[in-house]
Amino acid sequence: MTVRVRLAPSPTGNLHIGTARTGVFNWLFARHHNGQFILRIEDTDLERSRPEYTESILQGLRWLGLNWDEGPFFQTKRLELYKEAVQKLLDQGLAYRCYTTSEELEALRETQKANGLAPRYDNRHRNLTLEQEEAYKAEGRSFVIRFKIDDDREIVWNDLVRGRMSWRGSDLGGDMVIARASTEGIGQPLYNFVVVVDDIDMQITHVIRGEDHISNTAKQILLYEAMNAKSPEFAHTPLILNMDGRKLSKRDGVTSISDFQKMGFTAEALVNYMTLLGWSPPESTQEIFTLEEAAKQFSFERVNKAGAKFDWAKLDWLNSQYIHSMTVDKLIDLLIPFWEQAGYPLTEPRDRSWLEQLVVLIQPSLTRLVDGVSISQLFFTETVEYSDEANTQLKQEGSTAALKGIVSALENIPQLSESLAQDIIKQVVKEQNVKKGLIMRSLRAALTGDLHGPDLIQSWLLLNRIGLDKPRLLEAIKTH
Ligand code: GLU
Repeated sequence: MTVRVRLAPSPTGNLHIGTARTGVFNWLFARHHNGQFILRIEDTDLERSRPEYTESILQGLRWLGLNWDEGPFFQTKRLELYKEAVQKLLDQGLAYRCYTTSEELEALRETQKANGLAPRYDNRHRNLTLEQEEAYKAEGRSFVIRFKIDDDREIVWNDLVRGRMSWRGSDLGGDMVIARASTEGIGQPLYNFVVVVDDIDMQITHVIRGEDHISNTAKQILLYEAMNAKSPEFAHTPLILNMDGRKLSKRDGVTSISDFQKMGFTAEALVNYMTLLGWSPPESTQEIFTLEEAAKQFSFERVNKAGAKFDWAKLDWLNSQYIHSMTVDKLIDLLIPFWEQAGYPLTEPRDRSWLEQLVVLIQPSLTRLVDGVSISQLFFTETVEYSDEANTQLKQEGSTAALKGIVSALENIPQLSESLAQDIIKQVVKEQNVKKGLIMRSLRAALTGDLHGPDLIQSWLLLNRIGLDKPRLLEAIKTH
């Protein structure tokens, strides 16, 4: 048997972290078994579905490296298939037209509520006679299609994550609507139904999805039976929780993959982190791996039942590990869009080799790619603003003289090197008989506007290459 799994997102929002994580588990399982990963866009909710969300989903999956083997298939293009399947259930007497009006349903719900009962449909139109149907039609009533669910049915499956699951038909809310209201012909088929038609048609062997779908699974198993098809295996993955233990939601700020991208997480770190959201490798001390490496070891035996807490500190840590071990070339390419976004000039004299030198300097300090904007700002602007500390430093006795000494030493040097920079500092120490520390701090304050930051000599060399060191020294002298 070839393993065939699918991701079935609804394009009613940008690619969500929960959907992406479900995608990760599907992908890992498919690759582990040399199977197929299929992408299906569940766009039957016409009011809420948008093409730009489909685009965001496709882009997000590509960015994360979750390549698919078949699809994307769009449910809106498959309506005929679904309607035929509904018709078949009608013909077999497994489904029926229900003419109950929304007012009647409301009244039923009110009575149930008054009696402390859970809301459910009472199957009142299950056995209408032809005459009764005609009478309702004559009244101009529309009808939905309901699938019969016997209250005393027991539905059991062996969930790959949660073990034995058991539901009673009576827990499912009565006969279930599988097609929307219509006055003629079959209305639009609904989620629980079309999923099953598709999963049968696409020969899906394993349905891997979030645990919020568990009650759907119970209903869907009955539909597989009704359509004479073998149920796939089911694996319900744990929810993603925030640090307070509640389901991660929009209120937590960031939920879509594009948000994480904008915040400066790398695809590799994010996908690595998502792999660990609910799964752990057998060698659980190993936390950094590629998708391919994880796929070799992936199994549902090591997927937790309990919700997975989203841990920003851990994600940051992973991200920094990826950034620190990345080639300089790749990191430049990843930083360029962030610098462009910030409006930084990326033309001469800031050529590629200058960018390389800059990135070598800042790489160890980055946790997220966006940090590359703030930390390198001083290299992209003409002037710097002085922090209070820098101002105090520049007003220290001997500071201005030291800077003047540096400026005059620079006169004879067309291009600075590390050893020349060291020589200049030594020379000024000697000439002016001041402490090296004072010179270094004053130089840093003048060049960067601050007393903290990346390596001073390297920063100086970078500024020298673009002709900004001398003007900044002169500016500091003039203003202090
Ligand atoms: N379209 C469903 C969702 O976005 C997924 C359905 C499924 O995986 O069966 O939640």
